[in-house]
Amino acid sequence: MAERVVVVGGDAAGMSAASQALRLRGDDLRIVAFERGRHVSYSACGIPYWVAGDVDDDARLVARSAEEHRKAGIDLRMRTEVEGLDLDAGRVTARDLDSGRVVTEAYDHLVIATGAVPIRPRLPGVDAAGVFGVQTLDDGAALLDDLRRRPAKRAVVVGGGYIGVEMAEALVRHGLEVTVVDRAPQPMTTLDPDMGAKVHEAMEGLGIDVRTETAVEGFETGGDGRVRAVATAAGTFETDLVVLGIGVAPNTALARDAGLPLGDSGGIRTDMQLRVVGQERVWSGGDCVEVRHLVSGQHVHVPLGTHANKHGRVIGHNVAGEYATFPGVVGTAVSKVCDLEIARTGLLEKDARAAGFSYVTVTVDATTKAGYFPGTAELSVKLMAERRTGRLLGAQIVGREGSAKRIDVAAVALWNQMTVTDMTSLDLAYAPPFSPVWDPILVASRKALAKIREAN
Ligand SMILES: Cc1cc2nc3c(=O)[nH]c(=O)nc-3n(C[C@H](O)[C@H](O)[C@H](O)COP(=O)(O)OP(=O)(O)OC[C@H]3O[C@@H](n4cnc5c(N)ncnc54)[C@H](O)[C@@H]3O)c2cc1C
Repeated sequence: MAERVVVVGGDAAGMSAASQALRLRGDDLRIVAFERGRHVSYSACGIPYWVAGDVDDDARLVARSAEEHRKAGIDLRMRTEVEGLDLDAGRVTARDLDSGRVVTEAYDHLVIATGAVPIRPRLPGVDAAGVFGVQTLDDGAALLDDLRRRPAKRAVVVGGGYIGVEMAEALVRHGLEVTVVDRAPQPMTTLDPDMGAKVHEAMEGLGIDVRTETAVEGFETGGDGRVRAVATAAGTFETDLVVLGIGVAPNTALARDAGLPLGDSGGIRTDMQLRVVGQERVWSGGDCVEVRHLVSGQHVHVPLGTHANKHGRVIGHNVAGEYATFPGVVGTAVSKVCDLEIARTGLLEKDARAAGFSYVTVTVDATTKAGYFPGTAELSVKLMAERRTGRLLGAQIVGREGSAKRIDVAAVALWNQMTVTDMTSLDLAYAPPFSPVWDPILVASRKALAKIREAN
C-alpha cells in the first residue's frame, strides 16, 4: 500500500519536499499538501521587485501553480489550514477556510513547513488602513493597489533590515519621499555597525531619509481611520502610507502545541536529516526550523528562501527512503537598495565575541572593475579572521553594481574553513571589465594576513 505523506505549508520548503518525494518515489506515495493561503510555491523574495515595477505580474512570482502541482500528482488543498497535529495517532486536523468544513488526514510521514510570521509591533494604530506588511503576495497586491488608487507623496518604512531597504527602493521608484525608521544605531543590523554606516550614508545619498536610534511609539490616524503619521521618540513623521519590515519569527504554534521541541532561537529542532528531534516520522524545514551555524557551532534562525528550498529537497529525499542531510549554514545573504549592493557571510563581530573567538578585522576600499575601465565603481570589503589561526570568520561587502556576488568567494572559503593565508593564493578571475588585477577579496586577505602576523 502507498505510504501517506502530509505536508503542512505550500511554499518553498513544503512544496519542494512534496515535489522531490514525488519525483523519487511517486508511485509508492500518496501526498496531501495543505496551504492556508491563496498562493502556492510563490516567491516572497520577489515582492519588493514586483512593487518596484521590475516584475509586471504577480503570476510571474509563482514557480508552480496549484493546477500544475495537482497534475503532477500532489493532492493540494488550498485555503485549508491545519489546526492540530495528533502525533500518537499519526493524523492532522484541517479546516477549509471557505466552507468551514473540518477534515482529518492520516500520515506515515508528516512534513511541517509552516514558515515564519511577520513581527507586528503591538503599538497603537498598527492595524490602521495604510499600514502594510510584505509577507505574502496578497500583501504585495494590497500595497500596489493602494499606490495605484491614492496619490501618495510620502512613505515611512519601519525597519532598516533587508526587507525594509528593498521596500524603501520600491517606494522611491514610485516617486515617494521615503523615511526609514529603525531603533538600531545603523540600518542593516545584519552587518557590523561600521559597514551599516556606509549603507546609511549611501541611502541618504539616494535621497532616503534614514532615522536610526528612533523607536516607533505608534501610528496616528485621520478621521477616516487611515494612517497619517508615525509617532516616534524623536518626533512625528507625517506620511501617506507605512510599510512594516521589522523581521519575522518562526511559525511554530502548531508544533509547540503538539509538544515538538523548539530551540533557543524559537525554531523547531531537527537532526541533520531534518527529522524533528525525538520523532521517527515527522520532518521539518524552512523558516520554521533552527539550523546549525557552521562557523560558530551555535543553533540559529536564518529565515531565507535559499535554505527553505534546500531543506525541502533534503526532506523529499528522506521521505522517499533515500538519504540526504542539511549540514548547516554559514550565514550568507545579499540585498540591494537602488544601485547599492549589500552582502555578508559568516559571523559579525558581535557574534564572534559571543562565540568566544579572538579575531582581527580589516576593511579595504577598492573598485568593481579595473580603475581605468568605464563604469568602474566603489566597493568596500571587510574581512574578519581568527587571530591565532588566520581562519576566515566572516566577510561583508557594501558597494555599487558588481559588488555583492563577490561574497560567494568568502562563503566558499568559510564552508571549507580556509585561512586568509590560503585565500591570498586563490585563483580568482580577472579581466578589466570584471575586476581590478588584484581582486578586492585577495587584497583584503593579504591585509588580514599582515594584521595577524603583527598581532601574534
Ligand atoms: C519581502 C521578502 C523578501 C525576501 N527576500 C529574500 C531573498 O532575497 N532571499 C532569500 O533567500 N529569502 C528571501 N526572503 C525569505 C523567503 O521568502 C523565505 O525564507 C521563504 O519563503 C521560506 O519558505 P518556507 O516554505 O519555509 O515558508 P513560507 O514561504 O512562509 O511558507 C509557509 C507557508 O505555510 C503556510 N501555512 C502556515 N501555517 C499553516 C497551517 N497551519 N496550515 C496550512 N498552511 C500553513 C503559509 O500560508 C505559507 O504559505 C524574503 C521574504 C520576504 C517576505
